[in-house]
Amino acid sequence: MYQKTCIVCKKTLEEIGGQRLSINRSGQYKATTMNDEIKKLIKLVRKSGQEPWECQICSNNICNECGSPYLRPVGRDVLNSDGSLTHIAILPKTWCINDKCKNYPK
Ligand SMILES: [Zn+2]
Ligand SMILES: [Zn+2]
Repeated sequence: MYQKTCIVCKKTLEEIGGQRLSINRSGQYKATTMNDEIKKLIKLVRKSGQEPWECQICSNNICNECGSPYLRPVGRDVLNSDGSLTHIAILPKTWCINDKCKNYPK
């Protein structure tokens, strides 16, 4: 099961919006803010049997127009609610979740 809150900003996905981004063990996807405190936290969370993740705000996977999370976090693995992973390829066009923004899909 995934952790309830983002490992960096400690907010829930409901507060932030967007998707959970996986921080995988191989080190391919590190938490963007990787310092000793975060490293310790990641170990602790995994020890407790949960999977840590970071949000799109903390990983800067956000719209360049309005700063909202991208609809699909590009180039990352998304941690789904059932614990599985979905890889999001780099896309030619990145949409945003904010319906007031010009990058919102019509
Ligand atoms: Zn965060
Ligand atoms: Zn936007």
